[in-house]
Amino acid sequence: MKAKISEIFDSIQGEGLYLGEKQIFVRFFGCNLNCSFCDTKLDRFMEYEPEELIKELKLYNSKYHSISFTGGEPLLAKDFLKSVLKITAKAGHRHYLETNGTLHSELEDLIDYIDIVAMDVKLPSSSGMKELWQEHRQFLKVASRKEVFLKAIITLSTQEDDLFEVFKIIKDIHPQTVLVLQPNSFDTGELLNQKINRCKDICAENNVVACVIPQIHQIAGLR
Ligand code: SF4
Repeated sequence: MKAKISEIFDSIQGEGLYLGEKQIFVRFFGCNLNCSFCDTKLDRFMEYEPEELIKELKLYNSKYHSISFTGGEPLLAKDFLKSVLKITAKAGHRHYLETNGTLHSELEDLIDYIDIVAMDVKLPSSSGMKELWQEHRQFLKVASRKEVFLKAIITLSTQEDDLFEVFKIIKDIHPQTVLVLQPNSFDTGELLNQKINRCKDICAENNVVACVIPQIHQIAGLR
């Protein structure tokens, strides 16, 4: 059972609620979505058996917050991932899953081995993708069995109606979920600032806990 992996490295988490934590990153190749703002469309990968990945992870010492399984979309390699997680859990690692929040059946099969779910919620007006509300709804139901937060990319084209759909999902499924508003790293300037401020205000007006956290990779020169 092989999986396509683009890179394995250690670094500092550069986004979301665990920003600043030291992690081992395993980046899976390939994704089931095609977001307009995607910055991880890598064209190279190596194929790994689960035991080959485990052997490589053993090269890292134990001073990491967690292993971040990221992508692409790591849940596309569900069976491979499950084999790895069973072993790395026994070795004492915590598992942080960065996911686009659409493959709920796959998550169901793995959730017992995951500690933290960093779940994207794709606003159609930001991502250029079709509506994925039902997929996100089902996904959050499963993810809420563990620690979970949502992340929405805010662009110049983000529509407020999309945020209201996210609020409905949060309130129906897991009201204490924190929503991270992440400014699109490809947009800059005063208009984006105004958009982000407006989104934050709407969250507060609707009693949704939200925080604005930009990506820090480029600012801090991180990988
Ligand atoms: S879900 Fe993530 S990896 Fe997949 S296309 Fe969208 S931004 Fe890229």
